[in-house]
Amino acid sequence: MSNKTILQVENLKVWFPIKRLFKTPLYAKAVDGVSFNLLKGESLALVGESGCGKTTLGKTCLRLIEPTFGRLIYDGRDITHLSGKDLKWYRREAQMIYQDPFSSFNPFFPVRRILEEPLIVNGVKSKEERINRIQEALQEVKLLPIEDFINKFPHMLSGGQRQRLAIARALILRPKFIVADEPVSMLDASVRVEILYLLKELQISQGISFLYITHDIATVKYFSDRMAVMYSGKIVELGEIRKVITSHLHPYTEALIEAIPDPDPNNRNVERKVIPGEPQNPVAWPPGCRFHPRCPYAMDICRVEEPPMNEVESGHQVACWLRIKK
Ligand code: SF4
Repeated sequence: MSNKTILQVENLKVWFPIKRLFKTPLYAKAVDGVSFNLLKGESLALVGESGCGKTTLGKTCLRLIEPTFGRLIYDGRDITHLSGKDLKWYRREAQMIYQDPFSSFNPFFPVRRILEEPLIVNGVKSKEERINRIQEALQEVKLLPIEDFINKFPHMLSGGQRQRLAIARALILRPKFIVADEPVSMLDASVRVEILYLLKELQISQGISFLYITHDIATVKYFSDRMAVMYSGKIVELGEIRKVITSHLHPYTEALIEAIPDPDPNNRNVERKVIPGEPQNPVAWPPGCRFHPRCPYAMDICRVEEPPMNEVESGHQVACWLRIKK
């Protein structure tokens, strides 16, 4: 593991058993053999349609869900099987920002109490220090002037202000790694870019590493350095944002990019190559490449053998038989 890596994910699998009466259990394979490195201070976007396993992967990286197989190495320490007290330090270092912050706030707590709670739980005893840290966090997320917000309740804030509060709560323990799960998908378009720029600012000023989970490929360029495209429990393409957007190698990435609305009306009727459809059923993946039922380029080998991840050029990997020289 390079000393530039903060999180190393090795062949991670998260399978949920489905019990059946008098029969051996089946498994919903939400994450099925994922490997990647997250570098210190970088933002890696994890992109894919709903149900592809990206939230499960994010929560497993935070050890909120137990991995079934594979390893998670954080800053040189194997955290795959840590639990209870041994995991307490990691709970401070790694935080999550949710899609809908409103449902994760106690509606009876004002802003001050929402931000004070994690500090109390994590043993910050001095009241003065707690107040200073709360003011610092509100300053960082630009909920200003502080006096106007500190005593407000969540229902008194706008959607954008609530998401800033959720970011402040994630920052209050000074984490080094944050999983941001669709942090802007419930916000108005005008507020989305503002929040993404705020996250980018925090990434640069505090050197925080982000795993940015989204189904909206159009937002990744505002915030991320690299992008991993996930389909049916696997990463199918990984590389620098610019490379993946302009020289994508996987037909599924092509489909996601084609689906970005084009503001130019002359381009609205461009023929779509990829066959529309739903993600595959995680209980019974098709044999071979999981994307083959929707892929316009599918060949015989695609129906029988799963393509391995292959580095096509430095830092740009793809799992597709079209890109493997035989
Ligand atoms: Fe399409 Fe085959 Fe590539 Fe899968 S491996 S994406 S089916 S060409």
